[in-house]
Amino acid sequence: MATQPEVGVSDFVLLDNLTTDKFIENLHLRFQHNKIYTYIGEVLVSVNPYKNLDIYNAQHMAQYRGREMFEVPPHVYAVADACQRVLRQQGRDTCVLISGESGAGKTEASKFIMKYIAANTTQVHREYIDRVKNVLIQSNSILETFGNAKTNRNDNSSRFGKYMDIHFDYKGDPVGGHISNYLLEKSRVVSLQPGERNFHSFYQLLSTNNPYTKKFGLSSTEVYKILGSERGTAHDSKLYSVTNSAFNALGFTSTVVENIWSIVAGVILLGELSFTETGEGELNIGGPLRACVSALGVSETALREAFACRVLAAGGELVSKRHSLSDAHYTRLALAKAAYDRLFSWIVQEISDSQLLEAMDKRLNGHKHYTSRQLSPTDKKLKHSVDFRITHYAGEVTYAITGFMDKNKDSLWQDLKRLLHSSSNTSLAHMWPEGATNIQKTSKRPPSAATLFRNSMSALVSGLQSKEPFYVRCVKPNPVQAPHAWDEQLVRHQVAYLGLVENVRVRRAGFASRQRYDRFLKRYKMLSQYTWPNFRGTSDRDAVMVLLRDLQINDVQFGHTKLFIRSAQTVHALEAARAE
Ligand code: ATP
Ligand code: MG
Repeated sequence: MATQPEVGVSDFVLLDNLTTDKFIENLHLRFQHNKIYTYIGEVLVSVNPYKNLDIYNAQHMAQYRGREMFEVPPHVYAVADACQRVLRQQGRDTCVLISGESGAGKTEASKFIMKYIAANTTQVHREYIDRVKNVLIQSNSILETFGNAKTNRNDNSSRFGKYMDIHFDYKGDPVGGHISNYLLEKSRVVSLQPGERNFHSFYQLLSTNNPYTKKFGLSSTEVYKILGSERGTAHDSKLYSVTNSAFNALGFTSTVVENIWSIVAGVILLGELSFTETGEGELNIGGPLRACVSALGVSETALREAFACRVLAAGGELVSKRHSLSDAHYTRLALAKAAYDRLFSWIVQEISDSQLLEAMDKRLNGHKHYTSRQLSPTDKKLKHSVDFRITHYAGEVTYAITGFMDKNKDSLWQDLKRLLHSSSNTSLAHMWPEGATNIQKTSKRPPSAATLFRNSMSALVSGLQSKEPFYVRCVKPNPVQAPHAWDEQLVRHQVAYLGLVENVRVRRAGFASRQRYDRFLKRYKMLSQYTWPNFRGTSDRDAVMVLLRDLQINDVQFGHTKLFIRSAQTVHALEAARAE
């Protein structure tokens, strides 16, 4: 609250002398006192504490409910509340844009927002709404298992773009949602930087408590090529249990769950295969081919064929082209990447989180604890959405996306699509519907990853433009993921790239008036019995606080030496009162 003793200033707009040094000094001072959140007006700047702070419990949530941002200390809950309030009171769609470099805390911020929204609902239709909230929260665990990996920058780095759309009814209760994923970094499946890991799912499959490890011919003590030099840890076992209960909570059947893990196993096993040529130029396949075939549910002959040659449609004729060793190698890697990439998108679609209502009905109808609640036409008319967009660090976005594009460029032969479509694993077969198409009809090139990405991005941007945005700017304090450590250079770099000081300049222009406390007091002290003729406290700042509280004026911020008044109306009202 504004009257609480403050560490530095809680809103950068109140800095006395605005320079980059002063900005960083304030950010650092607050960080040292665990004040990780600071405003720039309504923009929230968040510094990753790299330790658990006791600022996210139910009491904290309650403190932010229905309060204006400037009434309570800066917090990501205040953003969530403001966002939901605009939606509920003004009926406008809102979105939260979260940006920052890898490891700055974007994913964690989005989870705090989601939990806040989930906790903030009315009692009506409680059971149904609880279920929707559960889906929103549980879906994160699954997305992280299949789409996150340990990198050199972040032990739990999201290797995909995510856009989450939550629909609310007119009372502000979440009634459904949709998750879109953008471009998984699928090259990670087959190539790792030193010190980095593959997607968490691989280690979870090999964790000691996973019943599927043995079932698919794998062993938790073995080292597999695509996992790099890393093995699973006790933490992976713990997360496997979390993933498993999330699958259950989301209504995935045991068959589908088994199908999913068997594809992950198939990808690991593809990584173990090797090729040599026989004297006659035939392809010899080494490694666990049987286990691989069985995990993927495809025929051994078909997989051998797919490695040895590919069928092309040339001038209406089908021609078989024999593979060189390097073609076979390329095919194996392309297959592993494509199978995993499609698996990830399919899982996202399955929980996506627009189909939610129908899916919940289909899966849970008849269940004794489930009562279906379809949106009435009025509900539909009134529903609004909050979206989360996780953006990448502006300074590196160009590199990151170019890299992603190159890494995602490879194409998959039509034969391989047919191979996957022919799988006895029904989920895998479903993921590859184009494999059912006759090969001669598909001479047209599919759109490239770059084209698809560009199209989905422009759809995303135009969707966001119609919503009222709230911003969270995440800052990473050090490159070693340690609490307390403060790397000035790294912070300076991010403050520059995120344009934070500029942001303050723009916001400051948004205040109608800035006045020194002594001058303000001199001019308006007669308006309150507490300050006229004299204030009994010590400082001018305190006197102004008391004066404004008495006048019930709260669209102000208290700087060190100056009072900041937001609206011109307040200044006019003060003048009018004085004239009286
Ligand atoms: P990437 O772009 O690589 O996905 P990110 O911005 O999503 O990175 P997060 O995964 O959200 O980064 O944060 C990295 C780690 O920092 C988290 O796993 C967690 O350990 C820690 N962290 C982030 N925010 C907080 C917070 N508010 N409180 C405690 N720890 C945090
Ligand atoms: Mg992330």
